[in-house]
Amino acid sequence: MKIFNSLTSKKENFKPKIKNEVGIYICGLTPYDDVHIGHARTFINFDVIVKFFKFLGFKVRYIRNITDVDDKIINRANDEGISALDFSKKYISEMQNDFLSLGIESPDVEPKVSDHIDEIISMIQSLEDKGYAYRKNDSDVFFDVKKYKEYGKLANRTLEQLSASERTIPNFNKNHEADFVLWKVDTDGITWSSPWGKGRPGWHIECSAMSIKYLGAEFDIHGGGLDLKFPHHENEIAQSECATNKKFASFWMHTGPLRIKDKKMSKSLKNFITVKDILKNFHPEVLRLFFLLTHYRNPISYSREGLENSKRILDKFYAIVSQKKIPSKFTEDNSLKKDFISAMEDDFNTPKAINLIQAYARNIEKSIDDDLSKLGNFQKILNSLGLLIDNSEDYFKFGESEISDQEIENLIVLRNQAREKKDFSLADKIRNQLIEKGILLEDLNGKTIWKKKS
Ligand SMILES: [Zn+2]
Repeated sequence: MKIFNSLTSKKENFKPKIKNEVGIYICGLTPYDDVHIGHARTFINFDVIVKFFKFLGFKVRYIRNITDVDDKIINRANDEGISALDFSKKYISEMQNDFLSLGIESPDVEPKVSDHIDEIISMIQSLEDKGYAYRKNDSDVFFDVKKYKEYGKLANRTLEQLSASERTIPNFNKNHEADFVLWKVDTDGITWSSPWGKGRPGWHIECSAMSIKYLGAEFDIHGGGLDLKFPHHENEIAQSECATNKKFASFWMHTGPLRIKDKKMSKSLKNFITVKDILKNFHPEVLRLFFLLTHYRNPISYSREGLENSKRILDKFYAIVSQKKIPSKFTEDNSLKKDFISAMEDDFNTPKAINLIQAYARNIEKSIDDDLSKLGNFQKILNSLGLLIDNSEDYFKFGESEISDQEIENLIVLRNQAREKKDFSLADKIRNQLIEKGILLEDLNGKTIWKKKS
């Protein structure tokens, strides 16, 4: 398998530390607002990567943290007059619900900063003991970037180049402007006691402490959104490698950004789209497929047309499997599986994989009556990407509409009674009434099923 390693900017052969096992750490969310579709992209991409390792038979250990100690949380909690931890608790459960509705698997461990203060303090302590951390005038504790010769290796820039591009407010307690906070001395907001006084951890140290705790000092894959590459991931490498004297993660993976019609998504531009907004009108697998049609490292330009396109493709996939009952046991057809694996083993090339599946779908549409095992293979491969998980009836009924499911069912009963009495004009009237409300009827083998119009 080849994976693009951000650390070397090359596709490299993936060799896990332990055969057939993989340890993955992904930087998770800071829960202070609704989950937006940029987050959805990152975590769906990593979900598919984790799923693919499992599909290949790997034993996966997947860790995704929650940054529940953060200035944004503290400020928002203060505005609402509640404690920071109560505030973040609310958004953590919102986040978990959103991820669940997107079909994103829970990680094996979802560690929170507030539960790992001891590990963080002992890591800062060891950095201080080794001379990599310092403080002046009882100020915050800083990491001394000049002491770590490899600083800048992930960003692929020297310290001088990095300093020139970073404009920061001068801080007289720092030796170098790129030095970053390990422990913030503070008495306001949420605080813990430490050898340096009351305060809270800086942002970057949490991921070093938690990834090492759950995966060991050296592990296979560390990932996150591209916006975290610098300084967050650079700083994680610096702290971890100085604290342990070992090479931290072997592979660094970054998902590309999401833009809205080529503009950055932001509240001030009023183009901020949450997961909940999308799921009002589109099935979660439509959003998933939309993301998979672009390679995980490339930027995605979000548009409604893009979602509608992915809905058309997914409608077709669901229509194919809804026509026939797939036997629980079927012979595996290796042609699709082989091509699918080789596309995915090339740095998780999901657009190519979807293309192959579409070609296979066209094939089975032609030969659907004679080979049910083909249908089984088709479904199994799509399932491995987190698609075709829903049952097709529920899939086609998904979405908000002006008429309730019960009202639809009642009208179907009335229409069938009319048809039995050969009152076809009433039957047609009811059908047209439903079409006006966006509901399509299909009469199949003596049964009437309904779906929502695209
Ligand atoms: Zn992180």
